[in-house]
Formats: sequence, C-alpha cells, structure tokens
Amino acid sequence: MDIVSDTLLYEGKAKKVFATADPGVVRVAYKDDATAFNGLKRGQIQGKGAINNQMSNLLFAYLQEHGVPTHFIEQVSERETLVRKVRIIPVEVVVRNLAAGSFSKRLGVAEGTDLPQALVEFYYKNDELGDPLITDDHAVILGLAEREELEQLRSLALRIDHLLVSKFSDCGLLLVDFKVEFGRTPDGEIVLADEISPDTCRLWDSETRKKLDKDRFRQDLGDVEDAYQEVFARVKLACAQLPREGRSV
Ligand code: UDP
Repeated sequence: MDIVSDTLLYEGKAKKVFATADPGVVRVAYKDDATAFNGLKRGQIQGKGAINNQMSNLLFAYLQEHGVPTHFIEQVSERETLVRKVRIIPVEVVVRNLAAGSFSKRLGVAEGTDLPQALVEFYYKNDELGDPLITDDHAVILGLAEREELEQLRSLALRIDHLLVSKFSDCGLLLVDFKVEFGRTPDGEIVLADEISPDTCRLWDSETRKKLDKDRFRQDLGDVEDAYQEVFARVKLACAQLPREGRSV
C-alpha cells in the first residue's frame, strides 16, 4: 500500500493526518506535542507520539479481536499508522469507573471514589465551546447523531470499558476513566477511531494508586515521560502474553 503521499489533510493537537493513494485509507502521524485545559497549557512529552501510536494499536487490535469494530488497519512505523478514513462523530464519549477530573469537580465527589456502575457521558466535540457536557436530546437536536446511534455509542463504550478494565488489570493498572471517539465509514458503519493512550485515559497503579497518565502533565507532577514509558511497557507485556485465538503462546 502506498504510504508515501504527503498531502496533509488535517493537523490536530497530537496528530497529523495524511492522504494515501487509497481514498478509503489515511495515514496518522503522532506528535510529541501535549496540550491541556483546552489548549491553554502547551508542552512536549518526549517519546509520547511513538508510545501513544504503538499502545493505541495494541489496544485497538485487542478490542477488534473481541468484536469491537475499529478504524485500525496497520502500523507502518513507530509513530505512524494506516487507518480507515471515517467521518468523526463530533461527540466525545467518556466512560468513568472511579471519580476524577471534571466529574469530581462538578459534582463534589472525592477523586478516587468507586462508582457503583460505569458511567457514560457525552461531550460536544467543539474546541471553541470547550467541549461542553451534553444530553442525548442535545446531541439529536444539534444533529450530531441519531438517537439509535447514541445508544450504539453507549453500548460500544461500555463494552470497550469492560475489555479495557480487564486488560489494564493484567497490567497492574486501574482504569479510572477514558475518552473515545467514533467515526462513520462511507457505508455508514460506526467504528472506534482516534486513540486510546495515557493522553486519553486516567490510569493509576493498582497497588500505589500513582497516576501514570496525562494528569502528570496537567498537574505538573513530574516524571511524565517515565509514566508513559511504564504504561507502554506493561501494556506490551500484557498484550504479548495474552493468548489469542489461533495463536499459540
Ligand atoms: N479526555 C480526553 N480529551 C478531552 C477531555 C477528556 O482525552 O478533551 C479524557 C481525560 O484524559 C480523562 C477522561 O477523558 O481520562 C475524562 O476527562 P474529564 O471530563 O474528567 O476532563 P479533564 O479533567 O481531563 O479536563
């Protein structure tokens, strides 16, 4: 497959997207740039692009094997991956297992409190508005997605949560919360898109509850690079060890 095309289609905060010879396929290149608080805080996390790309691909492959449709096609280098070209649904789907971040702040629940069940939230993906929390009715009225699609997003998000909690538990990590994005393929299928990485998940060491994710950058906790490396090393190990169907270990 031709991956040499250089036409930049889109540049986001953490990734660039390039066209390929195949109109149904794009090449994503991950950057080391980091932003937080809706772009107010900016910096670099050395090696983040390579880690997020590889870690996200391992997790997408794992989810795909367990029946979650994704945009993932093939990793082409440490920092680059070929994915199906989709139209991103402008709804950020957040799943929470423990209280943290905006949930703790908005509702006054102490960080680290166990939630009695996984919570799914929808946010309108709109930087100018600061990604506001929305209800299903908002999403339908704004024309972001149909009601049935929102049900599909909710059920996919809960399936992803279940699979990720189990995988991260094998890594000695607690999945506190995470954000995912979905896209529509040209034939209307909804697939998991974007990335799953320490940029988009809160991950704490199961024993010590040390934060091993982007909160180290957001909150100036130090050892940011080490945390990303640590998470990636654990995920690599867990993915290599887990027996997959048809593959002997
Ligand atoms: N998140 C993300 N991108 C965003 C907002 C949130 O990846 O634009 C992730 C964040 O890393 C966390 C989860 O979604 O794992 C929930 O984030 P929250 O709503 O608590 O907001 P935050 O405290 O990160 O501003």
